[in-house]
Amino acid sequence: MAETYQLLDGKKAAEALREEIAHATVGVKEKLGRAPHLAAVLVGEDGASKTYVGSKVKACAKVGFRSTLVKKPADITEAELLDVVAQLNADPEVDGFIVQLPLPKHINEQKITLAIDPKKDVDGFHPMNLGRMVIGLPGYLPATPNGIVEMLRFYGIATSGKHCVVVGRSTIVGSPMSILMSRNADPGNCTVTLAHSRTVDLPSITRQADILIVAIGKPGFVTADMVKEGAVVVDVGIHRVADKSRSKGYRIVGDVDFASVAPKCTAITPVPGGVGPMTVASLLLNTLKAAR
Ligand code: NDP
Repeated sequence: MAETYQLLDGKKAAEALREEIAHATVGVKEKLGRAPHLAAVLVGEDGASKTYVGSKVKACAKVGFRSTLVKKPADITEAELLDVVAQLNADPEVDGFIVQLPLPKHINEQKITLAIDPKKDVDGFHPMNLGRMVIGLPGYLPATPNGIVEMLRFYGIATSGKHCVVVGRSTIVGSPMSILMSRNADPGNCTVTLAHSRTVDLPSITRQADILIVAIGKPGFVTADMVKEGAVVVDVGIHRVADKSRSKGYRIVGDVDFASVAPKCTAITPVPGGVGPMTVASLLLNTLKAAR
């Protein structure tokens, strides 16, 4: 069993990325005559969504960006939300914007995503940007997968020729992650397996992973018996689980059972403080790109 493992500290990696962004922002401000501007649309009162949007807005201030929070009630109609998107698309002072997901059930998320101007789609969810990523054209890379790539780069994790297993095939995390890891790039050049809920004998697949990236949305799902000795493990999951010993009454955990898995790894991300901060930093990177 590996004696020690490296903690892939997302806060530290994000801070380094933010420093680079802040530095580049100085020149962009001079050229534009104003700060890069990110807007975030928050619909409803979901606690987790409020936290995510709050951290995105706070991060803007740290790098010298302007940010605007557009809050709308949970009963906003789809047509009204499409109107908000149209206004942000047309606003020359807004470089990029996000609509925080999930949206209330009565709103079609795909319709909203498709309405966002691809040039302002700093989450990288629009099919135009996903398509550009697939064929290797410049565009906005989806924030979470790109944040993970930037984290692997920061920690000098070797990826070329490695077997990367991605568990989860969502359009915002798992699927684009598998594409980025298989690209002819560094980090990249992995042999990738993309697993999902129909995968047969998942543990036999995850045990083959040199790099295991887990994005399934099930707390503590990946246990030590599913991980190869010496693997690098990236945990995307974020969950609040009840914990009366904490003042808030809950604690945050990932999709990986950290306590049992970490001793088998050469490197692993914590939750919280792993992928989350890198997602935010990656969003800033896209906003800087948009402002440029
Ligand atoms: P989705 O629910 O959209 O996708 C989950 C995926 O996991 C699906 O592809 C599903 O398969 C697969 N899956 C579910 N159960 C199993 C199983 N038992 N075995 C194998 N595969 C399974 O989730 P997201 O990708 O949006 O998010 C995943 C997690 O990451 C969540 O906890 C979310 O909160 C977190 N997250 C964290 C972010 C961050 O910044 N740290 C950003 C975004 C998400 P199928 O397709 O067959 O249904």
